[in-house]
Amino acid sequence: MADLISSILIHYHELGLKGDNRKWFEKIFRNNIKKHLKGLPFEAIKIIGARVFVNQINAANWDKYKNKLNNVMGLSNATLVYKVKPTIQNFNNVAKNLIKDKSFNTFKVYSRRQYKDFPLTSMEMNMQVGEYIQNICQKPVKLKNPDLTCYIEIVNNNGYIGIDRVYGHGGLPVGASEEAISLISSGIDSPVSSFELLKRGVYISYIHFHSYPSTTKQSIENVKSILGILKNYQIQCPLYVVPLLNIQKEIMKNAPNKYWVILFRRAMVHLACLIGYKKNINALITGENVGQVASQTLSNIRVVDEISSLPIIRPLSGMNKQDIINKAKEINTYQISTEPYQDCCSYFVPIHPATKAKIELIKKIESKYDLTNLYNEALKNLEFEIIK
Ligand code: ATP
Ligand code: MG
Repeated sequence: MADLISSILIHYHELGLKGDNRKWFEKIFRNNIKKHLKGLPFEAIKIIGARVFVNQINAANWDKYKNKLNNVMGLSNATLVYKVKPTIQNFNNVAKNLIKDKSFNTFKVYSRRQYKDFPLTSMEMNMQVGEYIQNICQKPVKLKNPDLTCYIEIVNNNGYIGIDRVYGHGGLPVGASEEAISLISSGIDSPVSSFELLKRGVYISYIHFHSYPSTTKQSIENVKSILGILKNYQIQCPLYVVPLLNIQKEIMKNAPNKYWVILFRRAMVHLACLIGYKKNINALITGENVGQVASQTLSNIRVVDEISSLPIIRPLSGMNKQDIINKAKEINTYQISTEPYQDCCSYFVPIHPATKAKIELIKKIESKYDLTNLYNEALKNLEFEIIK
């Protein structure tokens, strides 16, 4: 194998893209791949026939490339391939080498042709190379879930063959869908909701509110650790850490305690909008989930929404809690999210918060005090950091 050029052949996920849209998408995808592979050797990244090729990699380090590529949003799959002149004999020779140290009981050959002038159909290639492999290894073909798959592609009259493939999360490359601000606590939900929109190509800035020194700084540390994981998908994560305590004190001084959570939440959303507005950001993201806790009834969601000048996207609104937990485990944020911390909302909150707040009443309560100066102070004292 040492004499063959090894590359990575990548398929992206959204196949419906056409014309200029596709070119624009491919450009972002290619740049993201380049950023993710920083530090690993390759010669060039080329786009040919709706495929991305990372040329001349160090095949001995495939695991390192694989672990990085797995996190590039928009990626459907990536395969370590060897380039040959496309003849059945060449494919057979490389296949023989590729499988010689592998232990497997069943296999299949999966061919695709972008270059339609090649004289054999994909099916014929599968059969001919499959028969050859079967003769040398004496193992049966299994089309569904075989132990080993030999991938063959013909692109621009070049042949590519490999057996190592990694699957990505699909979706769209980060940056293809503009920018949003995610309100991130260190709970289970908001990291998952951020992940869901990273997967849809949204570039995310994060905002976290804390009540230090009335609470510890643990939630801030936890959020930074969570972003240390989410940065696997978006290499740099801008984070605004905003002090909420003085605003909370003013609210607690003036409002009945059953409305505190909802008033805190309105203050958070308002501050997030003020930051978003300055940065020309088009939406907020939260981890809210309908009916999950008292503060997330439709009535209360409506009251929170009312203060927002930006649309609030709630990717988890219809999910079941167990599915959110499973996802948090899958993306490795669950463990940090279940570490103890003092949440800036629940820390002060009464046992029975209002579940069905009325917008008229909330506005009446808010009219008794003026938070303008405190909002300005919070913005002045926020800390900004890029987690990378
Ligand atoms: P999470 O698991 O994300 O904390 P939750 O089920 O605990 O969500 P709440 O605590 O009611 O629900 O929070 C609802 C949403 O409000 C969160 O998902 C998050 O988007 C936002 N939020 C809550 N607390 C904060 C905070 N301290 N800083 C920033 N956003 C927050
Ligand atoms: Mg929470």
